Amino acid sequence: MIALMFGPPGSGKGTQASRVAVRLGVPHVAAGDMLRDEVARDTALGREAKPIMDSGGLVPDDLVVRMIEGRLGQPDATSGVLLDGFPRTVPQAVTLDAMLGRRDTNVDDVVSLEVPDDELKARILKRATTEGRSDDTAEGLAQRLVVYRQDTAPVLDHYREAGTRIEAINGVGDIDAITERIIESLKHNGAAVGNS
Ligand code: AMP
Repeated sequence: MIALMFGPPGSGKGTQASRVAVRLGVPHVAAGDMLRDEVARDTALGREAKPIMDSGGLVPDDLVVRMIEGRLGQPDATSGVLLDGFPRTVPQAVTLDAMLGRRDTNVDDVVSLEVPDDELKARILKRATTEGRSDDTAEGLAQRLVVYRQDTAPVLDHYREAGTRIEAINGVGDIDAITERIIESLKHNGAAVGNS
Protein backbone atom coordinates (compact mmCIF):
# COMPACT_ATOMS: atom_id res chain seq x y z
CA MET A 1 0.00 0.00 0.00
CA ILE A 2 1.38 3.39 -0.96
CA ALA A 3 -0.44 6.19 0.81
CA LEU A 4 0.15 9.92 1.17
CA MET A 5 -0.67 12.04 4.23
CA PHE A 6 -1.63 15.62 3.46
CA GLY A 7 -2.51 18.50 5.70
CA PRO A 8 -1.59 22.12 6.40
CA PRO A 9 1.10 22.94 8.99
CA GLY A 10 -0.29 22.17 12.45
CA SER A 11 -2.94 19.76 11.16
CA GLY A 12 -1.33 16.87 13.06
CA LYS A 13 -0.22 15.06 9.92
CA GLY A 14 3.09 13.91 11.43
CA THR A 15 1.42 12.51 14.55
CA GLN A 16 -1.32 10.80 12.59
CA ALA A 17 1.03 9.50 9.88
CA SER A 18 3.25 7.74 12.43
CA ARG A 19 0.20 6.06 14.04
CA VAL A 20 -1.45 5.11 10.76
CA ALA A 21 1.82 3.68 9.35
CA VAL A 22 2.01 1.28 12.32
CA ARG A 23 -1.56 0.12 11.64
CA LEU A 24 -0.82 -0.34 7.93
CA GLY A 25 2.47 -2.13 8.71
CA VAL A 26 4.47 0.15 6.42
CA PRO A 27 7.32 2.58 7.14
CA HIS A 28 6.46 6.22 7.88
CA VAL A 29 8.61 8.36 5.60
CA ALA A 30 8.42 12.02 6.66
CA ALA A 31 10.21 14.49 4.39
CA GLY A 32 10.32 17.19 7.12
CA ASP A 33 11.84 14.77 9.68
CA MET A 34 14.44 13.63 7.16
CA LEU A 35 15.35 17.25 6.38
CA ARG A 36 15.58 18.14 10.10
CA ASP A 37 17.89 15.15 10.50
CA GLU A 38 20.10 16.47 7.67
CA VAL A 39 20.18 19.86 9.45
CA ALA A 40 21.08 18.22 12.79
CA ARG A 41 23.91 16.26 11.12
CA ASP A 42 25.10 19.47 9.40
CA THR A 43 25.27 17.81 5.96
CA ALA A 44 25.54 19.82 2.72
CA LEU A 45 21.80 19.25 2.15
CA GLY A 46 21.03 20.30 5.73
CA ARG A 47 23.02 23.53 5.39
CA GLU A 48 21.18 24.40 2.18
CA ALA A 49 17.77 23.47 3.60
CA LYS A 50 17.91 25.16 7.02
CA PRO A 51 17.42 28.83 6.05
CA ILE A 52 14.65 27.87 3.63
CA MET A 53 12.86 25.78 6.26
CA ASP A 54 13.22 28.54 8.87
CA SER A 55 11.60 31.05 6.52
CA GLY A 56 8.66 28.72 5.83
CA GLY A 57 9.59 28.16 2.16
CA LEU A 58 10.06 24.91 0.24
CA VAL A 59 13.41 23.20 -0.26
CA PRO A 60 14.12 22.83 -4.04
CA ASP A 61 12.32 19.89 -5.66
CA ASP A 62 15.47 18.17 -6.99
CA LEU A 63 17.06 17.98 -3.51
CA VAL A 64 13.94 16.59 -1.84
CA VAL A 65 13.23 14.17 -4.69
CA ARG A 66 16.77 12.75 -4.49
CA MET A 67 16.42 12.29 -0.73
CA ILE A 68 13.04 10.52 -1.02
CA GLU A 69 14.15 8.39 -3.97
CA GLY A 70 17.05 7.08 -1.86
CA ARG A 71 14.67 6.26 1.00
CA LEU A 72 12.13 4.49 -1.23
CA GLY A 73 14.94 2.34 -2.63
CA GLN A 74 15.62 0.83 0.80
CA PRO A 75 14.40 -2.76 1.36
CA ASP A 76 11.78 -1.92 4.02
CA ALA A 77 9.99 0.46 1.66
CA THR A 78 9.53 -1.89 -1.29
CA SER A 79 6.16 -3.34 -0.29
CA GLY A 80 4.56 -0.12 0.83
CA VAL A 81 5.04 3.22 2.52
CA LEU A 82 3.17 6.09 4.11
CA LEU A 83 4.64 9.32 2.77
CA ASP A 84 4.21 12.40 4.97
CA GLY A 85 5.04 15.85 3.60
CA PHE A 86 5.97 14.54 0.15
CA PRO A 87 5.02 15.30 -2.59
CA ARG A 88 4.49 18.97 -1.72
CA THR A 89 4.48 20.40 -5.25
CA VAL A 90 2.96 19.15 -8.52
CA PRO A 91 6.44 18.56 -10.06
CA GLN A 92 7.33 16.40 -7.03
CA ALA A 93 4.09 14.45 -7.55
CA VAL A 94 4.84 13.92 -11.25
CA THR A 95 8.33 12.65 -10.37
CA LEU A 96 6.96 10.36 -7.65
CA ASP A 97 4.38 8.91 -10.07
CA ALA A 98 7.14 8.21 -12.62
CA MET A 99 9.36 6.65 -9.92
CA LEU A 100 6.51 4.35 -8.82
CA GLY A 101 5.52 3.63 -12.43
CA ARG A 102 8.99 2.19 -13.07
CA ARG A 103 8.18 -0.35 -10.34
CA ASP A 104 4.69 -1.04 -11.75
CA THR A 105 3.00 0.58 -8.80
CA ASN A 106 1.22 3.83 -7.97
CA VAL A 107 -0.23 5.93 -5.14
CA ASP A 108 -3.20 3.97 -3.77
CA ASP A 109 -4.67 6.48 -1.38
CA VAL A 110 -4.37 10.09 -0.23
CA VAL A 111 -5.42 11.16 3.27
CA SER A 112 -6.20 14.87 3.60
CA LEU A 113 -6.47 16.20 7.17
CA GLU A 114 -8.72 19.24 7.38
CA VAL A 115 -8.38 21.80 10.19
CA PRO A 116 -9.63 25.44 10.26
CA ASP A 117 -6.97 28.22 10.18
CA ASP A 118 -7.71 29.55 13.71
CA GLU A 119 -7.12 26.12 15.20
CA LEU A 120 -3.90 25.68 13.15
CA LYS A 121 -2.52 28.94 14.49
CA ALA A 122 -3.32 28.04 18.11
CA ARG A 123 -1.72 24.60 17.74
CA ILE A 124 1.48 25.89 16.11
CA LEU A 125 2.02 28.56 18.72
CA LYS A 126 1.52 25.95 21.45
CA ARG A 127 3.98 23.60 19.68
CA ALA A 128 6.52 26.45 19.58
CA THR A 129 6.67 26.40 23.37
CA THR A 130 6.97 22.61 23.67
CA GLU A 131 8.95 21.28 20.68
CA GLY A 132 11.22 24.25 19.93
CA ARG A 133 11.03 23.89 16.13
CA SER A 134 12.80 26.89 14.61
CA ASP A 135 10.03 27.38 12.00
CA ASP A 136 7.18 27.42 14.57
CA THR A 137 6.68 31.17 14.78
CA ALA A 138 3.69 33.32 13.80
CA GLU A 139 5.58 34.52 10.67
CA GLY A 140 6.81 31.02 9.81
CA LEU A 141 3.28 29.64 10.09
CA ALA A 142 1.77 32.41 7.96
CA GLN A 143 4.33 31.72 5.23
CA ARG A 144 3.88 27.94 5.42
CA LEU A 145 0.10 28.36 5.07
CA VAL A 146 0.57 30.52 1.95
CA VAL A 147 2.95 27.91 0.51
CA TYR A 148 0.51 25.12 1.38
CA ARG A 149 -2.33 26.82 -0.49
CA GLN A 150 -0.21 27.86 -3.49
CA ASP A 151 2.02 24.84 -4.04
CA THR A 152 0.72 21.89 -2.06
CA ALA A 153 -3.08 22.07 -2.38
CA PRO A 154 -2.74 21.62 -6.21
CA VAL A 155 -1.13 18.22 -5.50
CA LEU A 156 -4.52 17.07 -4.16
CA ASP A 157 -6.13 18.16 -7.44
CA HIS A 158 -3.40 16.27 -9.33
CA TYR A 159 -4.36 13.01 -7.59
CA ARG A 160 -8.10 13.73 -7.75
CA GLU A 161 -7.80 14.16 -11.51
CA ALA A 162 -5.78 10.92 -11.72
CA GLY A 163 -8.72 9.11 -10.08
CA THR A 164 -6.84 8.37 -6.83
CA ARG A 165 -9.08 8.05 -3.81
CA ILE A 166 -8.87 11.10 -1.51
CA GLU A 167 -9.92 10.59 2.12
CA ALA A 168 -10.98 14.01 3.48
CA ILE A 169 -10.72 13.63 7.25
CA ASN A 170 -11.87 16.08 9.94
CA GLY A 171 -8.61 16.73 11.83
CA VAL A 172 -10.24 18.41 14.85
CA GLY A 173 -10.83 16.52 18.09
CA ASP A 174 -9.30 13.74 20.12
CA ILE A 175 -6.05 12.34 18.63
CA ASP A 176 -7.19 8.70 18.99
CA ALA A 177 -10.57 9.48 17.43
CA ILE A 178 -8.90 11.13 14.43
CA THR A 179 -6.66 8.08 13.95
CA GLU A 180 -9.77 5.86 13.96
CA ARG A 181 -11.47 8.13 11.41
CA ILE A 182 -8.49 7.72 9.08
CA ILE A 183 -8.31 3.95 9.61
CA GLU A 184 -12.04 3.49 9.00
CA SER A 185 -11.82 5.53 5.83
CA LEU A 186 -8.85 3.51 4.55
CA LYS A 187 -10.57 0.20 5.43
CA HIS A 188 -13.58 1.34 3.48
CA ASN A 189 -11.24 1.59 0.51
CA GLY A 190 -10.04 -1.98 1.06
CA ALA A 191 -6.74 -1.33 2.85
CA ALA A 192 -5.41 -4.15 5.05
CA VAL A 193 -5.27 -2.55 8.49
CA GLY A 194 -4.13 -4.03 11.84
CA ASN A 195 -5.60 -3.29 15.26
CA SER A 196 -2.73 -1.70 17.18
P1 AMP B 1 7.10 19.47 7.87
O1 AMP B 1 7.81 18.80 8.99
O2 AMP B 1 6.42 18.49 6.94
O3 AMP B 1 6.17 20.56 8.34
O4 AMP B 1 8.23 20.20 6.98
C1 AMP B 1 9.02 21.22 7.53
C2 AMP B 1 9.70 22.02 6.41
O5 AMP B 1 10.57 21.17 5.65
C3 AMP B 1 8.75 22.64 5.38
O6 AMP B 1 8.20 23.86 5.81
C4 AMP B 1 9.72 22.81 4.18
O7 AMP B 1 10.58 23.92 4.37
C5 AMP B 1 10.56 21.55 4.27
N1 AMP B 1 9.96 20.45 3.50
C6 AMP B 1 9.39 19.30 3.99
N2 AMP B 1 8.95 18.51 2.99
C7 AMP B 1 9.25 19.16 1.83
C8 AMP B 1 9.03 18.86 0.46
N3 AMP B 1 8.40 17.73 0.07
N4 AMP B 1 9.48 19.76 -0.46
C9 AMP B 1 10.11 20.89 -0.09
N5 AMP B 1 10.33 21.24 1.19
C10 AMP B 1 9.91 20.39 2.16
